[in-house]
Amino acid sequence: MKILVINAGSSSIKYQLFQMPGFTILAKGMVERIGEADANLVHNYNGNKHVAQIEAPDHDAGMDVILATLTDAEIGVVGDISEIGAVGHRVVHGGEEFTGSVFVDEHVLDSLEKFADLAPLHNPPNLTGIRAAQHSLPDAIQAACFDTAFHTTIPETAYLYGLPYDIYEKYRVRRYGFHGTSHRYVARRCAKLMGVDKTQANIITCHLGNGGSITAVKEGNSVDTSMGLTPLEGLVMGTRCGDIDPAILFYLADKGYSMDQLNDMCNKQSGLLGISGISNDMRNLAELVEQGNERAKLAVDIFCYRIKKYIGTYTAVLGRLDAVVFTGGIGENNPNLRAAVCGEQTQIGIEIDTERNEAKSSDERLISTDTSRVKVYVIPTDEEAAIAGDTYELANADS
Ligand code: ADP
Repeated sequence: MKILVINAGSSSIKYQLFQMPGFTILAKGMVERIGEADANLVHNYNGNKHVAQIEAPDHDAGMDVILATLTDAEIGVVGDISEIGAVGHRVVHGGEEFTGSVFVDEHVLDSLEKFADLAPLHNPPNLTGIRAAQHSLPDAIQAACFDTAFHTTIPETAYLYGLPYDIYEKYRVRRYGFHGTSHRYVARRCAKLMGVDKTQANIITCHLGNGGSITAVKEGNSVDTSMGLTPLEGLVMGTRCGDIDPAILFYLADKGYSMDQLNDMCNKQSGLLGISGISNDMRNLAELVEQGNERAKLAVDIFCYRIKKYIGTYTAVLGRLDAVVFTGGIGENNPNLRAAVCGEQTQIGIEIDTERNEAKSSDERLISTDTSRVKVYVIPTDEEAAIAGDTYELANADS
């Protein structure tokens, strides 16, 4: 069975076509700048890369381009569209309702619309992507896989804020958490690498990309995560501030900042970018730190400090810690950051092996010493494979 995994954003659609059950990637790529005059397609297949200017006034048109490309006589990888048996969609917010991946039906579509105000930047384009795929592939099974689903096991004590209870009852204001597909994937891989069942390990997973979150995974289930009602809470990120005293916002509102300005400041002008005043990209900052730039160093130090603080907190939450996993663009590729976060953590049993940590590799690997009580791993995330796996399971449970 061939499964197409779709991640639709406001102006882009990313795709990967898998041959299941072996998870072989037949092609992957993306349509970018949907709705603009200079929309383009990047398509990777059989070790080749094809880039083209395209017409994509909307998501339907973008999806048609993807399907035409996948079935193209020269650069395509399938003979006929009917070979694509199922489509797995990444959906950011599944609210409290979706505890796992589901087939898309009218009820699911209605619920996603309902959750749009909780994830206004993400759910509407996700929904548009689903509709476009239903339109272009009417015979394929459509599945929705939620970023929030893995976190639906978080207990009330960890998901409720210290606000009046009726705010939760009326508006469902609570911690939802995000990056769930990634946290679940790397936690399962980690248990495999440790040679134990997922129910036997307590793991802290650190997904560190441009957005970042940390999850405490107890015996296979998420029991707490750093992102909250929205992806703004928790770590200091590329451009997001993460945890702050909420009274800062009232204070600044009093000084004349509008809601829009504060929203923009916290989501787009803060974090690594805001502190360094230069860049949200860890690669740029790492170079600047090498050159002695003080503000870049401060930004990176604050970034690492916050991660360390969460690892300490979640160690207490888990009671017993067996492993820490680093993933995401920064977690996978930045040994200095991993060393800074794991330094002086022998008290909780973390000891990094310098040579293992600095080895150049894009494989899953152990980076702690053989005597470290807590194992530390770098595990490249693969959300698309996780979505393909869920979709495959759903499709086969159905038949
Ligand atoms: P997103 O959250 O957008 O998916 P990514 O997971 O791609 O983000 O991570 C982006 C971050 O990862 C950037 O700060 C970037 O500097 C860093 N990064 C990505 N690749 C590398 C690399 N090869 N070496 C060092 N840092 C990297």
